Parts: sequence; C-alpha cells; structure tokens
Amino acid sequence: MPNSVEIATNWLVTAGLRPTRQRLALAELLVGDGNHRHVTAESLFESAKDRGAAVSLATVYNTLRAFCDAGVLQEITVDGSKSYFDTNTHDHPHFYHENEARLSDAPSEELVIKQLPTAPDGFEIASVDVVIRLRKV
Ligand SMILES: [Zn+2]
Repeated sequence: MPNSVEIATNWLVTAGLRPTRQRLALAELLVGDGNHRHVTAESLFESAKDRGAAVSLATVYNTLRAFCDAGVLQEITVDGSKSYFDTNTHDHPHFYHENEARLSDAPSEELVIKQLPTAPDGFEIASVDVVIRLRKV
C-alpha cells in the first residue's frame, strides 16, 4: 500500500505539477488517504495549520487554483461566492447542506436530466453543475 506522501506525490506529478513542499502538504491533506473530499480554502487552511504546515490562506487559495487549472480538482460555487473544491473531477451532483454550509456527493445514478435548454448562438454548454440544496425538516 502506498503511503500518503507517495499518493500525494503521484497525484501532483500526474497533474504535471512540481511537488513543492507546500503543494505536497496540501495534496496529502486532499488525497493522501485515497478518499475523495470536498474542501473550502478555509477548511483546508485549518487542517494544514492543525498539521503544523506553515502555509498562509493566500497560498492555500493559489494552490487550490493551480490544482483546478491542472484538472485534478473541480471547483463548485454555491451562492455565487462560496467555493468548494472537489477531488472527484468526474461529473456528479451535489447536496448542499444549508445549515452546515457543507457539500457532499449526491447519488449520480438517481439523477436524470432529460433535456437541456439550447445554448444561445455562438455558445456551447461547457458543463452542467447540479447542486441540490438541503434544509433540515
Ligand atoms: Zn463531489
């Protein structure tokens, strides 16, 4: 079984990113246990601080952007401003837990999209984000 540093290093190298110490520290928190997760810049920053990594929130933000640009992270925006970053880059729907401001995966197999509106002239549909907002009953 590869350890978390090996997994994180592989993930970076596969994405064409040089495994710097800071990138490695954040990649380890993101994918080191082999599981997918959803983070915000703030939550990842807190996890890094807890682990004793010397990173600033700005560095976390820039690194998350670099991971997105490299295609190994997917950004999901909720409320037009709050960004979540998902290590699962395949298309899948999300639940947004309004009470906790938390994002989780929704079962893809239960989602059926029968038809999409036609894109206006000169445009094509780049992607479809499905965020289902949840409220406690
Ligand atoms: Zn997800």
